[in-house]
Amino acid sequence: MSFFSNCKEKLFFFRYELVKPGSKRFFEQLQKDQYLSSDEIEALNWSRTQSLVKHAFEHVPYYRRRFTEAGCTPKDIKNQDDFNRLPVLTRKDLMDNFDELLSDDVSLKDVRLSTTGGSSGTPAKVYHPKKEIRAANGWRMLGWWGISPAADCASVYRDVQNSLKARIMHFLQWYPTKQILLDATSFTEQDMRDFLDDFIRVRPEVLHGYVGAMDNLAEYVLEHDIHLPPPKVIWVTSAPITPVQQNKIETAFNAPVYDQYGCCEIYWLAAECPARNGLHMFYDTRRIEFLDDDNRTVPNGTFGNIAVTDLKNYAFPLIRYLNGDRGRRLDKRCTCGCNLPLMDKVKGRVSETFTLPSKTRLNGEFLTTLFDNTPEAVKQFQVHQLADASIVIRVIPNNSYPSLDETLEHVRSALENAVHGEVAVKMERVAEIPLQKGKMKFVISDYKA
Ligand SMILES: [Zn+2]
Repeated sequence: MSFFSNCKEKLFFFRYELVKPGSKRFFEQLQKDQYLSSDEIEALNWSRTQSLVKHAFEHVPYYRRRFTEAGCTPKDIKNQDDFNRLPVLTRKDLMDNFDELLSDDVSLKDVRLSTTGGSSGTPAKVYHPKKEIRAANGWRMLGWWGISPAADCASVYRDVQNSLKARIMHFLQWYPTKQILLDATSFTEQDMRDFLDDFIRVRPEVLHGYVGAMDNLAEYVLEHDIHLPPPKVIWVTSAPITPVQQNKIETAFNAPVYDQYGCCEIYWLAAECPARNGLHMFYDTRRIEFLDDDNRTVPNGTFGNIAVTDLKNYAFPLIRYLNGDRGRRLDKRCTCGCNLPLMDKVKGRVSETFTLPSKTRLNGEFLTTLFDNTPEAVKQFQVHQLADASIVIRVIPNNSYPSLDETLEHVRSALENAVHGEVAVKMERVAEIPLQKGKMKFVISDYKA
């Protein structure tokens, strides 16, 4: 690390410590914990889970009531089988019982409210303790990629504050770390040009953002043959990315793409390391389960509904929270040395399941993998179930792909077979698939079963 980078990192932590004392120590602890053995990490996770369950029973009215109804006290929870007896927390439970979920030993001035618009239709809100050092999970992830927490970063993200005042505050808060921003929700050609000019001037080490918006930006860079100083990594956030998109973004910016997974209620959940064996779950601070529709653990390798327990939030505990995503745990160890367990990239959301008139369900992970065997055939695709239950596969075709027509027909008929001909399946070639709030939606359903 150069003298300047070293000073910059020291200043970064000095400033952070003023706002959140203990940040550096917590970060150093996280760095050590990832090299514990798998058994030690499991044991650490379990003892933290038990402490949180005990706290929730003693201090949170909602859990005391629900655990009692389920016939459990914290003493009864000795292993995963016992833990499975605890009720899951749905988004509806969260919203219906919001006031009852706050711990009786915190006051409202100790917590910060986070709200999400709810891309799945149901908004959610949660409290986070103000003292919590959430960013430390991200610093550890940056470390996997060889990046300092104080590194300059370019973001293509939602809800960017772009007023002059917001920019000045941002500069003062982060100086000398530079951050440049592009609002992913909507941007014009001029916005892209301004952002890329800043990019050339600042030479950020990290480019971070939503897949859909980054894809558009990459397209623009390639079309106009713009040469940028390459960042060290491109960090994409919790959205399925096709091999074609990944390739395009890596080519345009000349750096590897890594995936990070989180949800608004519990932001840091897992991230990919350079060995690309899946995503390391932040298992020392989160318990992540994969459950069937009866809330039983599915075997490793099998897709299930993701349930997350935030082991660091005692103020507003989220225990077995179903965040609406589907995923699976991987039964392998990574070669990078980090022993945090692995999960697969998230393939789809529960809300993206299609229901047919006969009540048969088609899962999002099947729909998002339609082109997995022929990823080069399309630049983008989207599967849309219309109000009459019929299905349209919309593709931006790669016209230089050999035997394109046969490939598209093959994919269409595979989906037709999967629905046993119950509804019509159409293939539609389009020039563009519009983004929704900067995000690419792979699967949409307008059919009300
Ligand atoms: Zn790894």
